Amino acid sequence: MKKEVSNLKYVIIGNSIAAVGAVEAIRRNDKEGRIVIVGKEKYHVYSRPLISYLLMGKTTEEKMKYRNDDFYRENQCELKLNTTAVRIDPKEKKVILDDGGYETYDRLLVATGSSPVVPPVPGLKEVRNRFTFTSLDDAKALGDTLNENMKGILKVLIVGP
Ligand SMILES: Cc1cc2nc3c(=O)[nH]c(=O)nc-3n(C[C@H](O)[C@H](O)[C@H](O)COP(=O)(O)OP(=O)(O)OC[C@H]3O[C@@H](n4cnc5c(N)ncnc54)[C@H](O)[C@@H]3O)c2cc1C
Repeated sequence: MKKEVSNLKYVIIGNSIAAVGAVEAIRRNDKEGRIVIVGKEKYHVYSRPLISYLLMGKTTEEKMKYRNDDFYRENQCELKLNTTAVRIDPKEKKVILDDGGYETYDRLLVATGSSPVVPPVPGLKEVRNRFTFTSLDDAKALGDTLNENMKGILKVLIVGP
């Protein structure tokens, strides 16, 4: 019997939990198509809820990985990390990237999650040690500041539920 080969190219914007779910679902149905993942962050996919445990020293970056190191290779994914999709051209079926390049697609998934809303409080932009808390980089930046201030008097204000 002739093996069916898919010529489809899937582009996924975002490299987190939703992207992993999509890759696994695609590969159940299509073993041959090309999958390209474009991710703004520079990290292997990690479990976002664990960033507070990292900050507490209760886990490590290695243990935060949401899938093993071979995940992308085993699923034949081309990974473009540290890369942001800045525009989509639906007519040409293209995703334009911030590195000046682009990816064409047959199927596109926008799996960009959510980003924190920083309220427009006057003066907030001038606060030096101001953080949001949704990414690994947020946790690292906050951790660095907390470590620097360990010997000083530190007062932290948390805004939000
Ligand atoms: C501190 C914390 C604790 C949490 N605890 C829990 C919990 O206990 N239980 C629970 O169910 N959920 C929890 N969540 C929520 C959970 O992490 C999210 O629901 C989940 O991560 C959503 O996955 P996602 O793939 O949809 O999006 P995200 O995880 O938000 O990932 C989206 C990715 O897309 C990237 N991206 C965005 N724009 C672009 C672009 N233009 N180009 C390229 N890449 C882009 C982002 O950088 C990001 O890496 C928690 C979240 C946080 C922050």
